[in-house]
Amino acid sequence: MTNSRQAIGVDIGGTKIAGAVVAEDGSMLAELTEPTPETSDAATMTTLLLDMVGKLRDQYPDVVSIGVGAAGTVEWPTGRIRWAPNNAYRDWQIRTELETATGLPAVVDNDANVAGLAEARLGDTRWSDMILVTVGTGVGSGIVLGGGIYRGPHGLGSELGHIIVNPDGPLCGCGNHGCLEAYASGTALTRMGRESASDDPDGRIAALAREAGVEVTGQTVTKAAEEGDEAAQELFGRLGRWLGVGIATMTTIFELEAVVLGGGLVDTGDLLLEPARRAAREFAYGPPDARPPVPVVPGTFGSDAGKIGAALLALDHA
Ligand SMILES: [Zn+2]
Repeated sequence: MTNSRQAIGVDIGGTKIAGAVVAEDGSMLAELTEPTPETSDAATMTTLLLDMVGKLRDQYPDVVSIGVGAAGTVEWPTGRIRWAPNNAYRDWQIRTELETATGLPAVVDNDANVAGLAEARLGDTRWSDMILVTVGTGVGSGIVLGGGIYRGPHGLGSELGHIIVNPDGPLCGCGNHGCLEAYASGTALTRMGRESASDDPDGRIAALAREAGVEVTGQTVTKAAEEGDEAAQELFGRLGRWLGVGIATMTTIFELEAVVLGGGLVDTGDLLLEPARRAAREFAYGPPDARPPVPVVPGTFGSDAGKIGAALLALDHA
């Protein structure tokens, strides 16, 4: 029975917390989602997390372990979250708290790391050497080398969303200026959308927000772009181009089989993929016959990759 063992996988992101009971083949047997609270401090988050784990375990009492992928700087293997640019939690001893409260073994890793593991191991194409780049609230990265997650000595590496692409660029959630994340994330799309709406109050982006009675967000820009609005599509072109610039740098550092894209913004398809692929080729190091272009492909699991990967990691360590 290849499906006999199950684990709980939880993905903690900037906007939502998603949990699932996952079998060894990656199939999800039960799922729960909650919005990330405004006050995402460690105590609030622990209460929410334990509640979600408890509800999933009530449905599947035989789960053998718990895995968490969380946005931020996560110490490995201790499972302490030191800091996160887009969440309020600091020094969160999440692994210890989970193990004490549930009596089950737990593992905690960076959210993009575990999502990368899911895509490399169980995606439609299996990869040995790849980077998963997640484009959501922020830009995350999971580096998989030789089939395993690359973490460095303490799990502090692999923060490719915060490579500097322009030191004079916009402020990033991390406090630096001009990070890839400041140009190529949902947060960046919101910023660009607001600038565009204030420059062109009669444009479609401004009109959509006005009709809905909300401030312009990345979602407003996405909706306008999907309707065919040229200004919104141009913002996606800029965002995708910056993403491709970052990807070109990644493929200069590593020899990869693929760069796989995940996170909410990848659902926009060619709006993002096409300019990202073009820039990844344009800024790649070396001629294509010497260094063949690295495919840039959407992931198999979309926004489920984090919880599936967290559970897979938990099964590995059960
Ligand atoms: Zn940054």
